Amino acid sequence: RAKGLGRNTFSFYSTNLEQEASQRLKLEQDLRQAIETDQISIAYQPIIDAETQEVVYAEALCRWYDKDGHAVPPDVFIPVAEETRLINRLGQQLLAKVCKDIKVFVQQENAGYRKISVNISAVQLETPGFLKDVKRLLRTESIDSECLIFELTETSLMSDPDRSLKVMRKIRDLGIQIAIDDFGTGYSSLSYLKRYPVDILKIDREFVRDIEVDKQDKAFIKAIVSMAKVLDITVVAEGVETQKQARALTKMGCDYLQGYLFGKPGALQNKKPASAENKSAIQSVNYDI
Ligand code: C2E
Ligand code: MG
Ligand code: MG
Ligand code: MG
Repeated sequence: RAKGLGRNTFSFYSTNLEQEASQRLKLEQDLRQAIETDQISIAYQPIIDAETQEVVYAEALCRWYDKDGHAVPPDVFIPVAEETRLINRLGQQLLAKVCKDIKVFVQQENAGYRKISVNISAVQLETPGFLKDVKRLLRTESIDSECLIFELTETSLMSDPDRSLKVMRKIRDLGIQIAIDDFGTGYSSLSYLKRYPVDILKIDREFVRDIEVDKQDKAFIKAIVSMAKVLDITVVAEGVETQKQARALTKMGCDYLQGYLFGKPGALQNKKPASAENKSAIQSVNYDI
């Protein structure tokens, strides 16, 4: 032990560590129970065509309310689910729910959505049998794989790029589209995009936030868009909160937009796209959620 750290300092420090450890243990136990009793639900956020303002698809985001009814954010419990590998069971549970919703909101006539995108963690990708389970689910639920998009984060693919490439190819072979989530926050270079099978790039909201004033963010988005056009990749801007941001991003060539401006994560609602009647339906949904 370093000199100068007195007994008091040590005990203060250790109490905090103990507290942290027991809080973390409780979170883990609660999470395990929540998964076992199927308490984790899904909220859907619409993704909008920048030109037509129509809803094109929705992203599934998991939601957990603990025993006291407090929302525990995914950014808090997903990392714990990953470390404990509980994410494998949770991920399958959520995917099964998404498949049920796809039957109602995507595969039916008059459906309001073309596809649903699902976040897939690196742990799931690395777990043998993951794709077998996905295949089985699609078959038993009679889901067309083209109704699904898997969102993989840039960082999760970089830990083992060669293995990631293999899994991505298998996902694509199944007919499921691949989106790269939080693009720009990791360290991969744009040249990876050429090598990897990618259908959609989601620009992280960090770059969207100050789009009107930050010249670097603007230049970054422009570079992504022009690269994506060459590679035939669809660009989605995340975290769009204002009309000004939406206009700027549309002008810069982003294909799709996602953010509180168009709808917070909430329940799916069936609605026919395209008709004028329906456009007002979409608008009223925005204020509802
Ligand atoms: P993500 O996949 O990048 O999801 C986008 C996050 O941004 C969501 O947070 C969404 O609610 C939030 N968001 C959307 N529009 C706006 C906006 O205009 N402004 C702001 N400030 N935020 C906006 P959420 O639901 O808390 O999820 C956080 C992260 O947790 C997700 O980031 C994703 O990485 C992870 N996550 C969520 N659900 C799942 C899941 O089912 N499986 C896995 N593996 N990860 C998940
Ligand atoms: Mg996502
Ligand atoms: Mg994201
Ligand atoms: Mg994120």
